[in-house]
Amino acid sequence: MRLNDISRNIRVRDQRGSGGGGLGGGGKLGCGAVVLAIAGYFIFGLDPMSTLGMVDSVQTDAPVQTGGQTLEESCSVNEYSRETCAALSSLDATWQPLFQQAGIPFTQPTLNFYDGRGQSGCGAAQSAMGPFYCPSDQGIYIDTSFYDQLDRQLGAGGDFARAYVMAHEYGHHVQNLTGQATQVRQLQQQNPGAANRIQVAMELQADCYAGVWAAKNRELMEPGDIEEGMTAASSIGDDTLTQGRVSPDNFTHGTSAQRMEWLQRGLKTGDEDQCDTFSALLR
Ligand SMILES: [Zn+2]
Repeated sequence: MRLNDISRNIRVRDQRGSGGGGLGGGGKLGCGAVVLAIAGYFIFGLDPMSTLGMVDSVQTDAPVQTGGQTLEESCSVNEYSRETCAALSSLDATWQPLFQQAGIPFTQPTLNFYDGRGQSGCGAAQSAMGPFYCPSDQGIYIDTSFYDQLDRQLGAGGDFARAYVMAHEYGHHVQNLTGQATQVRQLQQQNPGAANRIQVAMELQADCYAGVWAAKNRELMEPGDIEEGMTAASSIGDDTLTQGRVSPDNFTHGTSAQRMEWLQRGLKTGDEDQCDTFSALLR
């Protein structure tokens, strides 16, 4: 996908350089106090988020940057960073007008880069968790080394596979802003026996939203993109990832077939209203 433009208005926070690598070689990190605060969390059990929160509170509407790096620096740490920032720029630009049309208040999510370990509004972030969305701080968290894993271990390389991952996490942000995420949690509390099926519907909807985003940017798609997306969706299906070790009742993200089906539906229709996985799966 030809995602080349990086908006100056995306929200990015950078925790890299604070994890396993320690502070060595941190010369490019200009803001020592924040970096030390993050390192302190692991060594002394301090809470760095209070320090980061102070930084946020004085720059409410500006792109959030900590770790002393500018947006440009954070987005050019490596090729994956550039791609991730470009995908976020496109996702913001695609979804914001849809919220405007629907009359639902829109806020941008914050992309949080971290390396190995990080901190999120939902607790500790660890790269083994894979990319995730935290509703309470509206953050998308990613250790971009996941993309190497996706390519080498799961056999799903390519820029569109990576863009799909970002678009899926952004789909959870959409669910958060529309109130669907809250409804899902209420539904799960009322039907604990169906909690996993409801969770699967939520994940498949995020896949469908990822497809909708791509479809709305069809002019940027390149030959092979759809195949890359389908390979990625297939490779991260619960049945494929767990290889029979987990019963279907305990699936959380859907089977490979389901993930491909809902990504495909978004890609084909380009219509977010076609992503009602809840009606389709919870009859
Ligand atoms: Zn998800």
